[in-house]
Amino acid sequence: MRAVVCVPGGTEVAEVPDPVSAADGVVVEVAACGLCGSDVHAIERGHTVEGQVLGHEFGGRVVEIGAGVTGWRVGQAVAVDPLGSCGACRECRRGLPFRCAGLPNIGITAPGGFAEYAAVPAAQLVALPDDVPVELGAHAEPLAVALHAVELAGVGPGDAALVYGVGTIGLNCVMALKAAGVDLVVGAGRSAGRRAAARAAGADVVIDTRETSVADHVAATGRPFDAVLECSAAPGAVEEALSVLGSGGTCVEVALAEGSASVPLVGLVGAGLRLVGSCAFARPQFDAAVRAVVTGRIAAGDLITERVGLDDTPDALVRLRTPGELVRVLTLPGA
Ligand SMILES: [Zn+2]
Ligand SMILES: [Zn+2]
Repeated sequence: MRAVVCVPGGTEVAEVPDPVSAADGVVVEVAACGLCGSDVHAIERGHTVEGQVLGHEFGGRVVEIGAGVTGWRVGQAVAVDPLGSCGACRECRRGLPFRCAGLPNIGITAPGGFAEYAAVPAAQLVALPDDVPVELGAHAEPLAVALHAVELAGVGPGDAALVYGVGTIGLNCVMALKAAGVDLVVGAGRSAGRRAAARAAGADVVIDTRETSVADHVAATGRPFDAVLECSAAPGAVEEALSVLGSGGTCVEVALAEGSASVPLVGLVGAGLRLVGSCAFARPQFDAAVRAVVTGRIAAGDLITERVGLDDTPDALVRLRTPGELVRVLTLPGA
């Protein structure tokens, strides 16, 4: 089959052996796979292994079924939960399957969806209804990340939330916050294209952080936030997020930021603030994300700005290093 494989300094399309289904797994013909910022950064920073196939946001159809698998049929449309989970270890029991040492994660530590086919354990499949586009399966993963972050933020009707940084995950957070009934969702970003996308995703107010800081915005409106979802990894973003929270507010750090933040403890303790890290999701959030996209309750597909074939995927992964107007790109390996 053809796949986008990692090579020193980037990726290229290559012919690789077809995957074979394990006894407890299936082979999925990939219909669509999202290009994630984490893929872009891993390639850019050289955190990949030669020959590795990335792509952890995908859906497709089952084309081969392992000997020990029941309950699935050839042709069934599925979304793939990339996170392997043993379900029994301390990490899995605490809802942190990405920390499970027992099983690989597809498109991260096992071959993923930037390929015509991918081997997937049957336990990581979620069925899609026959009457929706299979492409919807590719939206579940980033939306699950957002649903987990919104859950940790603990906000709902009557609340105000700030999404700091409106890349793909931030935009999914905007959609998830509005779906959770949050009254006022403010998006803050630097790129004009992404700020327009934030408005289209349902943000009530969008701030250009090159012109107005979120602290100035709150000083002008007089309404602090009940939660901030920090998706930017910008230096100083955590400190700024904490400074715009009302009493009892929560800052959820969603961006995989490197380095550290200095936290003013008087404010944290005195105002009863919470600072919590949110990485990935567990199965309940993935299932909820699939439900939200197939029912149309959350129109995550509206975030797609470009669809490419496998041949153009290495170039798209480079272009996403400086996204500008690009928001979310899907690769369609069958195109
Ligand atoms: Zn991702
Ligand atoms: Zn486990």
